[in-house]
Amino acid sequence: MRCTLILVGTELLNGATLDTNSVFMAEELNKAGIKIDYKLTVGDTLEKIENAIKFAKSTSDLVILSGGLGATDDDLTKEAIRRFLNKKFIVDEVELEEIKEKFKKLNIQFLNKNLKEVEKPEGAISIKNDVGMAPAFFIDGIAAFPGVPKELYNMFPKFIKFYTDKFCPNLDPIYIKDIIVSGIPESILEEKIKEFFTEPNIEYEFLVKDYGIIVRMQTSDRYKNTVEKIKEKIYNSIGNYILAEDQEKVEDKIFNLLKKKKYTLSVAESCTGGMLSSTIVSVPGISQFFKEGLITYSNESKINRLKVNKNLIEKYGAVSKEVAEEMAAGLKTDIGISTTGIAGPEGGTKDKPVGLVYIGIKVKEKVLSFKFNFIGDREKIRKKAVLHSLFELYKILEEDE
Ligand code: AMP
Ligand code: MG
Repeated sequence: MRCTLILVGTELLNGATLDTNSVFMAEELNKAGIKIDYKLTVGDTLEKIENAIKFAKSTSDLVILSGGLGATDDDLTKEAIRRFLNKKFIVDEVELEEIKEKFKKLNIQFLNKNLKEVEKPEGAISIKNDVGMAPAFFIDGIAAFPGVPKELYNMFPKFIKFYTDKFCPNLDPIYIKDIIVSGIPESILEEKIKEFFTEPNIEYEFLVKDYGIIVRMQTSDRYKNTVEKIKEKIYNSIGNYILAEDQEKVEDKIFNLLKKKKYTLSVAESCTGGMLSSTIVSVPGISQFFKEGLITYSNESKINRLKVNKNLIEKYGAVSKEVAEEMAAGLKTDIGISTTGIAGPEGGTKDKPVGLVYIGIKVKEKVLSFKFNFIGDREKIRKKAVLHSLFELYKILEEDE
């Protein structure tokens, strides 16, 4: 079973909008076991959309379009499909009532042109839109979805279930296990775990990301148990470098440990300037444990708010192990995290280059610090400092278990 994706929208061609829909669809299709032949991006031009459909139909079993289903003049996807199939448009009375009801609820006037949103080529099956206006539809191996990501996310999984149940019930769903690793170079990682990758039915891949490396194992559902066994071996070999699995986030894992230990947390940020607090605050329910986030950017702030010794700053500099530790120690909660570093692009020296970051972590009476030399621009260095500070804290709390 193979498909082609067509992403419709002039904004996708001129760089105004990043195409994230195809990434989402590709992941969902991959999970379902449907392979992708091509991804085509076309602007809002009837002829080009029709050409793309013709090409896609000539090569794939299934053609999926996203974008151009709205009510405005540049929404041409439906018309292109209608022309290609040589069908007429119909409007389902029930769907018309439903969309009118949605407009009424939102207090928006239903205009004549909004009719376009419920029109579909005769014979098409609609996919219910629970979060927006226009339903998606499917006809003769062609599926069309709105471009709005939220709406696509709502309808696409429903469509995949419908499609696979009806047309390819025997497809082997794909099973993916991601193990997210950090703090170990790719080459050493490979050396340590490649001996476990002997099973021919499992594909292995290393995906290098900002925050570390994803070790991906991809196979079909029936080899799930084998993957679990390999995963165990990976844990035994490099367990202390493993950040998380699949979609897990390290901040969520910290939250669970805080709940268990009933520890309170606060942070003092220099180079991360609030990013660390923001990441922590993104976890629902964290308010029980997270007490404060200080942005102690200047030396005075570090001295006044955290009681960092002035002499220490003069002797070692603000970006130093000593200052990171004092910053963390100056926090009043059970746990304190501090960040101090040189995010660049200026400010680096031979001894203290751009990317040098110290992280201090206090857990009860114990204070530790960690030194990193991150590579990247200002934004990346700050992001890495956030992730690694959380990762180090997680490891400390977990070891304590
Ligand atoms: P449309 O269905 O063409 O009216 O698209 C509505 C909105 O969805 C556009 O303004 C874009 O912001 C967004 N959009 C369209 N296509 C994509 C895509 N491939 N990836 C991410 N966003 C998109
Ligand atoms: Mg559009």
